[in-house]
Amino acid sequence: MADVSIVSCADYDPAACRQALIDVLAPVGGLDFVKPGMRVGIKANLVSFMKPETGATTHPVLLSELTKLLKEKGAASVVIGDSPGGLFTSAYVKNVYRATGMHETETAGAELNMDFSQKEADAPEAKVAKHFTYTGWLDGCDALIDFCKLKSHGMMAMSAAAKNLFGVIPGTLKPEYHYKYPNAPDFARMIVDLDEYFKPALSIVDGVLGMDGNGPTMGDPKPMGLLAASRSPHMLDLVCAELIGLRREDVPTLEAARERGLIPDSWTELDIAGDVERSRVKDFNNIGTKNEVVFFGEMLFGEGINPFKRAFAKVMQRALSSRPKVSAGECVGCGQCAQICPAKAITMKDKLPHIDRSRCIRCFCCQEFCPKGAMKVARPAIARLLNK
Ligand code: SF4
Ligand code: SF4
Repeated sequence: MADVSIVSCADYDPAACRQALIDVLAPVGGLDFVKPGMRVGIKANLVSFMKPETGATTHPVLLSELTKLLKEKGAASVVIGDSPGGLFTSAYVKNVYRATGMHETETAGAELNMDFSQKEADAPEAKVAKHFTYTGWLDGCDALIDFCKLKSHGMMAMSAAAKNLFGVIPGTLKPEYHYKYPNAPDFARMIVDLDEYFKPALSIVDGVLGMDGNGPTMGDPKPMGLLAASRSPHMLDLVCAELIGLRREDVPTLEAARERGLIPDSWTELDIAGDVERSRVKDFNNIGTKNEVVFFGEMLFGEGINPFKRAFAKVMQRALSSRPKVSAGECVGCGQCAQICPAKAITMKDKLPHIDRSRCIRCFCCQEFCPKGAMKVARPAIARLLNK
């Protein structure tokens, strides 16, 4: 069995999507884990009220075709769910289903999750998230499929399979988790804890139309023409990062997965079915946090950590890290960024958000959930220069 599989899929034509799914799944074991009578859950990426053509959410045609394949394999039921940012309530999530075109999947035989209960989990073997709250609908599933989208991400550099499982945390609690794990490495460790706890039987990435630029919600739709799949969300992400021009060390969830031995040092060590070179996405506009601090520290001092380097890295981190910045011309003064900010770092003055940099934890929730795309990820000029 291959570690990761990649195929071309030019658009969302249903017949082409069905064939592409069959082709991408075959090298990674197909749907052999599905036993007759099972209830299969699909954790889609339904991040917000985004139409499919924005490239922000898992496309309904792919979800419909996967549902049909699962039913043909004997699944008794297929349930599609997610907890978008915002309220985890019937009224709120129904609106997200409507906007993202999810009702199309019901015609194919899927159920849209309507269980909005919350459960508590103890995970003693977790690295950081030893206790967390999750969406109860997952308990009713005999197997879980992680069907994510390939996008740029302000905080995590890339949103793909590993990051998609942050959607098991109820939307209203997500800012709390950002505050609890304020730096990118710990936030990434928490996400890998969730991945390990829920252990999806299969991970698939919808890279037919992804998103670059100001992702994961207000970036630009990016045609990429590909589907990829793996039994491991982390191996899948390692290949996805390579396809969009990111190094493993640019993506905190990949570093967290490598710490635990879940992925090798390089994608070249994976058994990949498909053509990586032909699948590379040209001119993907990555905005996410690059590891300039480590790069700069190592450039000057070589590898290894000592107190001086740690202090130097702290100063450089402030100077070099990407930060949220409002585009005054695009802002409509709605104040949603101030409401969602977990660090209470934003105050509205004269209908414009003002960010207290000393409080900001750079979670980019304000950027992710600004309805106008007015909050941007700004990378200091020196960081851009160093990254070159
Ligand atoms: S959420 Fe966006 S549009 Fe609304 S106040 Fe903040 S930056 Fe402006
Ligand atoms: S200002 Fe934005 S990036 Fe900073 S803590 Fe608040 S939501 Fe997160």
